[in-house]
Amino acid sequence: MILKGLYIHIPFCESICHYCDFVKRVPKNKEMIETYINALIKEIKSYKDHFKTIETIYIGGGTPSMLDVNQFELLFESIKDISPVEYTVEVNPESYTKEKGNLFKKYGINRISLGVQTFNQKLLDYLNRKHTKEHVFDVVKHLKSIDIPKISVDLIYAIPGQTLDVLYKDLEYINELDITHVSCYSLILEEKTYFYHQYLRGKFEQMDEDMEAKMYQIVMDELKKQGFEHYEISNYAKQNHYSLHNMIYWTLGEYIGVGLGAHGFIDQYRTLNHKALPKYLSQPLEKKDLQNQETMLQDEMIFGLRKMKGISLSYLKERYDVDIFVKYPRLKEKIELGLIKIEDGRLMLTDKGIFLGNQVFMVFI
Ligand code: SF4
Repeated sequence: MILKGLYIHIPFCESICHYCDFVKRVPKNKEMIETYINALIKEIKSYKDHFKTIETIYIGGGTPSMLDVNQFELLFESIKDISPVEYTVEVNPESYTKEKGNLFKKYGINRISLGVQTFNQKLLDYLNRKHTKEHVFDVVKHLKSIDIPKISVDLIYAIPGQTLDVLYKDLEYINELDITHVSCYSLILEEKTYFYHQYLRGKFEQMDEDMEAKMYQIVMDELKKQGFEHYEISNYAKQNHYSLHNMIYWTLGEYIGVGLGAHGFIDQYRTLNHKALPKYLSQPLEKKDLQNQETMLQDEMIFGLRKMKGISLSYLKERYDVDIFVKYPRLKEKIELGLIKIEDGRLMLTDKGIFLGNQVFMVFI
């Protein structure tokens, strides 16, 4: 069964991390947040007709956990008629409180995605993150005490200055936390970030590719030893606790995106909301583009190959009536290079291809 999702964007952060290029800002005051929440609820209500078919809700940011209890309650009330199978809120450890956790429980939130990135204090300071290792352990302890069944942690590797020992230590802490899911990304130098400005001044040096590849291998090996299944290039789950909401993105399912700069994919349209707050407040939607078979197939290939199980060739044939090796002749070359393979009727990345995914994805662009 294909699920339908609802993504809700909370664009506020207490401070800005040095690597971040998400749609976010530090709010001027409490009124700014409240004005935003009211506009957000209005936008959510405009999708009321879809409520019965929504199966995952994901409240992301920004930093959703910087909302206070009253603001959260307003938001949760506006979507209480939806009965999702998976209901996620992103939390930054420093802005979590037991009161907020109890409210999450009351409203049926069953998955928390915790922005940890690293447990090393020096690196946390370098990234401009505001929590400590102790915060993370306290939050997870409380979430478990109130029976939130699914806890995911976000990690970053290949941070300049990070050593293999620090990475091993981070992964040891993950083991100690005993959680159900990990998302682990390498640090990417994005334009319009503090690190990018540092880079332009010659004050930021990216980790070299060999070291980055070594770290990725360590992440894969260590998490596997801990019982995680590597199910998507950057995602690992225990006991099939995949992120159902993200699976919607990777399988081209439909999702509504509400909030500043949010993307959606609904009724064959890709939607994009305004990124500037004043524009969003007067009219959220910036544009909607009707998708055709060509763009759908392109997305299907790129997102599908991110999953370790790849894509079913018979599904592609049936859904798009196309021979992908005729459509994308360079695919054969990638097979010869050992970057992709066909196994049990599915096209998937090889172990080597996992490291060089971009070389494969280029074939479809
Ligand atoms: S908390 Fe998240 S959204 Fe906010 S600045 Fe840091 S990385 Fe970006």
